[in-house]
Amino acid sequence: MLEKVLIANRGEIALRILRACRELGIRTVAAHSTADRDLKHVRLADETVCIGPPNSADSYLNIPAIVSAAEVTASEGVHPGYGFLSENADFAERVEHSGFTFIGPKADTIRTMGDKVAAINTMKAAGIPCVPGSGGPLGDDDDHNLQLAQDIGYPVIIKAAAGGGGRGMRVVHKEADLLGAISVTRNEARSAFGNSMVYMEKYLQHPRHIEIQVLADNYGNAIHLGERDCSMQRRHQKVIEESPAPAITAAQRQQIGERCALACREIGYRGAGTFEFLYEDGAFYFIEMNTRIQVEHPVTEMVTGVDLVCEQLRIASGNRLSYAQEDIVVRGHAIECRINAEDPERFVPSPGQITQYHTPGGPGVRVDSHIYTGYKVPPYYDSMIGKIITHGDTRESALARMRTALAEVVIGGIKTNVPLHQDLLLDTNFQSGGTNIHYLEKRLADR
Ligand code: ADP
Repeated sequence: MLEKVLIANRGEIALRILRACRELGIRTVAAHSTADRDLKHVRLADETVCIGPPNSADSYLNIPAIVSAAEVTASEGVHPGYGFLSENADFAERVEHSGFTFIGPKADTIRTMGDKVAAINTMKAAGIPCVPGSGGPLGDDDDHNLQLAQDIGYPVIIKAAAGGGGRGMRVVHKEADLLGAISVTRNEARSAFGNSMVYMEKYLQHPRHIEIQVLADNYGNAIHLGERDCSMQRRHQKVIEESPAPAITAAQRQQIGERCALACREIGYRGAGTFEFLYEDGAFYFIEMNTRIQVEHPVTEMVTGVDLVCEQLRIASGNRLSYAQEDIVVRGHAIECRINAEDPERFVPSPGQITQYHTPGGPGVRVDSHIYTGYKVPPYYDSMIGKIITHGDTRESALARMRTALAEVVIGGIKTNVPLHQDLLLDTNFQSGGTNIHYLEKRLADR
């Protein structure tokens, strides 16, 4: 097993990684910015090292500072968490070239999956169903692009090949808007991601977002751990996630899951990963692969009993997968609400000091959060301050437990989106089997 791991992240995921390391007897190094000295995992870590000022470009995205921190502390492995440098192939490469273990896939895999066009082509070749689309980057030939959109059928969506975090996408409903949309998305992609490559896909009108969790080791073994439904989204950002997905059957899960596991073996995937699909009228359409642990991983942990972060650490340590496919049994139902420090109606961030904090509890309730009474939520980073996850024998029971948990949680001093979650948990459409990816936006627009 790795002896010492540097945690190159912050907030709840840094704490989650620290907990997994402790369980496995791995020593921890918390690499943090000057704004994050009071983070819970920084206080709990065996060693801490400051990697720069609050601005993430100078700290959590500062590759030389993080690699030096690993050197100074004689760390063996580096865990990138999610966001920040977790899907940066150059970072993974630098970590490995400097003699450390990157806890994630090979740099080449990250590079391929980070280019959505390359990812789609790789997956197509591995037998994964994809959204009908341009099948490659759009060129400058206007007539060709117009023809392409006509063949695919409106509406279409123009997406940045290097896009992420729900940014760099534009829906086009009619021919007159196509060329303008391509050029605007191209310009945005160039300035936001430093890569102007864009591609075209059919815009699905009422899909659900369903994703498959996978684990693969260095010895050609790969398994899937069922799916998550993350259709409750605002601005392409997930708000509520659950597992299993209400819309699909055990047979569908097995079929798409096995395809994903097979694709992992074919591309030599390593570590934890997620295949993201849109699901409409009984069919799955691949949109992208995430080569890291995801925010919503706990719902899969709750229904399978597998600790995904411990598995990441075991795989990176050179162990074989602890589970065979037949060991993975989905039990009951789990749901996760992302708790953000933000105004629940206007969605503006609400940083500041937490004056009072009471966590919910009871059977089937899990809270993954780094906050505590007196903690000051800094204004520099993502507004997510934690996640509440509930598990029950049935979806109804998981939902009931979530309603109870949300009624119990107290976070004083700042605004949070708890009232929004309470409202959504009472939504009859959501209660009766879930919704599609456009539902929440429409509902917010109507209110
Ligand atoms: P990102 O990398 O920014 O998360 P994705 O490609 O995963 O981008 O897409 C994010 C979200 O955008 C999806 O969950 C879905 O809500 C929406 N989306 C993406 N592609 C399509 C499409 N072809 N049709 C409809 N919605 C889409």
